[in-house]
Amino acid sequence: MAILNLVYERDPMLRRTSRPVTEITPRILQLLDDMTETMRHHNGCGLAAVQVGVLRRLVVVETEPGTVYELINPRIVAWTGEQEETEGCLSLPGKWGKTHRPAAVTVRALNRHGEEIELRGDGLLCRAFCHELDHLDGKLFTDALVDGLDSES
Ligand code: ZN
Repeated sequence: MAILNLVYERDPMLRRTSRPVTEITPRILQLLDDMTETMRHHNGCGLAAVQVGVLRRLVVVETEPGTVYELINPRIVAWTGEQEETEGCLSLPGKWGKTHRPAAVTVRALNRHGEEIELRGDGLLCRAFCHELDHLDGKLFTDALVDGLDSES
């Protein structure tokens, strides 16, 4: 495994739409492993492939240590309720802001074996799913803040 270089806020790549994964190759599996290692190295709870410079619809999420969700071509198929909580992003170090998200979402994706999985997340896991899936469409959490951005220098 390897720790990959992160893409940061001003890089226009973060605004691009990622393409679906058409075949789960050894390279894709390696990338998932490296994304998990990179996320853990930076103490993140989620990472999208675009954040390491790969425009593919791949996400890893770990809101509870030891439980890593690897999502290939994920999509939100149901959502309910709402929550407003503070979020940050490994691509925007030192910045936090309150976002408006669903209280819970249901996500469908492929796992690393190519099997369709369905996951339901609420609380932090829901926010992580929403945040990381937004990255796949070129969106950042700063696009929809409830009351502005907090920065720490
Ligand atoms: Zn992010």
